[in-house]
Amino acid sequence: MEVLKQNKFETGENVLKHNDLTFYMLEHESSLKIEHLIDYNAIILDGTDVDFTRTILKKFRSHSNHNYYLKPIFLINYKVLNDPFIEELHDGVILSAEQIPEKSNEVHEIETRITHLDHEPGVTFEIQLFKKIVSFLYTRETRNIKPFPYVYSSIGYTYPIVSVNFDSFEEFRVLEILTWAESENLIWPDFVDRAYFCNSCKAGHLSFREVCPTCDSSNMKSQDLVHHFPCGYIGPISDFRNTIDTNMSCPKCSKNLRHIGVDYDKPSLINHCQNCDEVFQDYLVKAKCVHCKHDGDVQYLLSKNINSYKLTKKGRFAATSGIMGQMSEKEDEIFGSVNSNTFHTMMHYENERMKSNASLKANIAALHLENIFDLTRKLGKIKEKVFLTEMVHIIRENIRTTDFINVTNPSMIFICILDTELATANYYLTKMSDKLKELVNNNFDKFDLHTEFKVEPLQREISFEKQMKELIKFLVESHD
Ligand SMILES: [Zn+2]
Ligand SMILES: [Zn+2]
Ligand SMILES: [Zn+2]
Repeated sequence: MEVLKQNKFETGENVLKHNDLTFYMLEHESSLKIEHLIDYNAIILDGTDVDFTRTILKKFRSHSNHNYYLKPIFLINYKVLNDPFIEELHDGVILSAEQIPEKSNEVHEIETRITHLDHEPGVTFEIQLFKKIVSFLYTRETRNIKPFPYVYSSIGYTYPIVSVNFDSFEEFRVLEILTWAESENLIWPDFVDRAYFCNSCKAGHLSFREVCPTCDSSNMKSQDLVHHFPCGYIGPISDFRNTIDTNMSCPKCSKNLRHIGVDYDKPSLINHCQNCDEVFQDYLVKAKCVHCKHDGDVQYLLSKNINSYKLTKKGRFAATSGIMGQMSEKEDEIFGSVNSNTFHTMMHYENERMKSNASLKANIAALHLENIFDLTRKLGKIKEKVFLTEMVHIIRENIRTTDFINVTNPSMIFICILDTELATANYYLTKMSDKLKELVNNNFDKFDLHTEFKVEPLQREISFEKQMKELIKFLVESHD
């Protein structure tokens, strides 16, 4: 560590400066908090402790804010390990401070590529997540999403840049996301392996056993079946053995057995259940799920291909131009809100009304719920809708009945507040934002909803579509 604190770099507490860049040295005894690191250009992460290194990398890469998940992170004091999360999620290993100038170029390249990205939030969890993944790949100039066998994954494989966004027991969701991206032609599959999952909980940690067809016990012994040619007797090999020597003789005709293939043969195996005493040739194969204990016939297991993926042209384009998903069904209205078409029409009339009467005013507010998908994806579609309806209800309580709301994208809610002073509108937003945080915190296991908002008077000169776009840009890029 000392080597980094040489005087050719300006150093403060853990801060290294090189030209216009500031690097933050994150030592392995540090706390696991990363929120204070948002403004540094890059992180130098002390890789001495594997668990610490993995945890920090996961915290950054799983963050819902691109200022964290796209942060250049270099490892120091790191010995290469076969941990796919560490290997796939860092930006290079440095041996000493001498390499900072060289890494500075990489930081600049990543930062330049970040400016190309489209930051408009996705309308669904899938789109939001996939944009995050392609943004990372784009800024790192790679196109591959590869699976790695991983003992800590509930499906046995992990795709670090995707999986980092899920808990390990949710790993099956990773395959669902990839299947979705494939169906949207965003990625292209290359077969790697086929994997099997519990049909009850979708975990992949299965214990396979041969079991008795009568009683399901795996307590069985199998032995060769012997066919004696001269007399035609067929029976388990134990019938031919004696307790004195290793010679075998036929229980039917008493002749000694001589050469396999000549006077006798072993046509198959015979199984004997030690539990119910059944003798049988064909056993069943069952798979017991280590996760939920469900024990089922292997024919009922779910199976999925484990593919390696490459971004398609559309997928690469998604980083800089956004994703137009097949989301028409998403546009069903949430009680108390209007869909985006209606919202646009109403805003248009509002604009016209203001043009004809200078004393009228309206405010447009954008409320950014940065990590809302981290919450809703755990709820399932029905509960999600109930939750969004409750959210709209809370927003409604803090505005007037003539004001209107659009929740096409739960992470970016628009509210048009009519005939109200800007300061008052800001006060409304502060109140509803606090109430929403409270609702989430109380009902979802202390989940910390990140909210930000901006309220502006509706402009007469520029189109409100443009104004909305700029509001979005301001909110999602406000930390740059
Ligand atoms: Zn299971
Ligand atoms: Zn015989
Ligand atoms: Zn049995």
